[in-house]
Amino acid sequence: MDTNHAPVLPDCAACPFDWPARACRKPGGQGPKNCPTLTGNTLAQEALLATVRDNAEFARQASVQEASGYGDRDRGYDRVRPLKPRIQELMEFAGRMKYQRLGLAFCIGLRLEAAVVREILTVNGFEMLSACCKVGRVPKSAIAIDREDQVDPASENETMCNPVFQAILCNEGRTELNVLLGLCVGHDSLFIKYSQAPVTVLAVKDRLLGHNPLAAIYQHASYWRCLKQPLDRTPGDES
Ligand code: SF4
Repeated sequence: MDTNHAPVLPDCAACPFDWPARACRKPGGQGPKNCPTLTGNTLAQEALLATVRDNAEFARQASVQEASGYGDRDRGYDRVRPLKPRIQELMEFAGRMKYQRLGLAFCIGLRLEAAVVREILTVNGFEMLSACCKVGRVPKSAIAIDREDQVDPASENETMCNPVFQAILCNEGRTELNVLLGLCVGHDSLFIKYSQAPVTVLAVKDRLLGHNPLAAIYQHASYWRCLKQPLDRTPGDES
């Protein structure tokens, strides 16, 4: 990479301005030197063109769904309140898009939750295809995993997670929207890479925090302050 001509990277997460004053909130608003709203007009036009040309209805319905998730909108911005759990939003959005067949790609560790999600989606009229992460029963040795890197080193043939197969099954089944439930970090990335249908996430995996990774973020100033120190990334140390 030519670092002499490296682009200035946008960094909205480090934006120093309060939300009401930001350039992406209102015309004439403020932003830092690397603000992509103030500096990236060409790219912004390209993005809008791609949205309108290739994803117009999807983008429109997603925004309609977003607004419908708030109540008391007629009482002013400071009084709006959340109305719906994500599972409801998911179903409403799929309905707005007139999707009938959904894929559910789930972690086997969340098989009880998957059964409930499947029941809810089925009762609401969707045709379901579901695939667990262990589908295909391919041993981890097929991807060069040694026994000591298995969850259970005592197992001779631990089954690997197979997100590419999950995605291919959804593709072959002509699902219109794929829902991820609890896939591991990286396995979710592979599913998204190979899925032909759009992907939405109902829940991500966090084994420790009840699949609520934000619990550690909410406690960043107290019990999880250690996370703001560099991690010891010793390979193989999962303790
Ligand atoms: S787009 Fe600009 S103003 Fe908005 S958050 Fe990013 S840096 Fe800040």
